[in-house]
Amino acid sequence: MAENDDVPFNRDFPLKPGVVDNVRPGIRRILCENPSPFTFTGTVSYIVGTGKVAIIDPGPDNEAHAAALLDAVRNETVTHILVTHTHRDHSPNTARIKAATGATVYAEGPHRASRPRYESEKHNPESGADRDFMPDIAVRDGETIEGSGWALQAVATPGHTANHLAFAWPDRNLSFVGDHVMGWSTSIVAPPDGSMIDYMASLEKLAARPEDFYLSGHGPEIPDGPRYVRFLIRHRQAREASILHRLAKGETDIPTMVRAIYIGIDPRLTGAAGYSVLAHLEDLVGRGIVATDGDPVIGGTYRLAAA
Ligand SMILES: [Zn+2]
Repeated sequence: MAENDDVPFNRDFPLKPGVVDNVRPGIRRILCENPSPFTFTGTVSYIVGTGKVAIIDPGPDNEAHAAALLDAVRNETVTHILVTHTHRDHSPNTARIKAATGATVYAEGPHRASRPRYESEKHNPESGADRDFMPDIAVRDGETIEGSGWALQAVATPGHTANHLAFAWPDRNLSFVGDHVMGWSTSIVAPPDGSMIDYMASLEKLAARPEDFYLSGHGPEIPDGPRYVRFLIRHRQAREASILHRLAKGETDIPTMVRAIYIGIDPRLTGAAGYSVLAHLEDLVGRGIVATDGDPVIGGTYRLAAA
């Protein structure tokens, strides 16, 4: 969520839905028409290679977008479909592209939460999970997927979802980073599907790699990826500090903290902001810095742990 200015966001992304854009030699991108406060202008699908190609993130259940992707590769063969994570704006169209092309589907695995659901916890309505998705090939961290003229290395980047993968292309010094890193906004980290501790570790992991040109699931390319990720890490550290600052004034709940911290936020994002605060609190409770009664849940009250 783009609620403050400490990260150098770039919202300049003039790409129109359905238009094939050659973002780099051998890399095409097509925007799906599914704009929203969560997806920015929509989901960006990528076509990697020429002749025999891979499609990364076929997008939401959207017939027009599937037709645009298939039209873009009409004299070519789709050999691979790669999916970064199982959210409904990324994976459902896989079924259409697979049916039309017979391509093999690669992803980390079906949707899963980052931790077991607590007894007291309801289903998180913000999660947008695609629970129908199942890859043909389950890809592990570090594995290389090879096609005609390209080789992509899977980089496990849990946090936004537990099964999130980035796909690095070391020979080209670039990475397809899905929703783990986006130029237009921060990523949503909403427990139990998401995890702040995993997300922060995945940011460090990505920034330590040599690839420095990022292509995201939404919005424009990121030219100096590792430097941008450092801003994201500092942003989350600052968010954690504001939460601790609120708690230093006394016991409080998540809606109160959201009102105090997310000044001027789009009202449609208030729910997601609450889960973002919960993600920090879950991490802080785990580290023994914050206390709550029972499990850390969205409806709980929180206080600083007795020193
Ligand atoms: Zn997305």
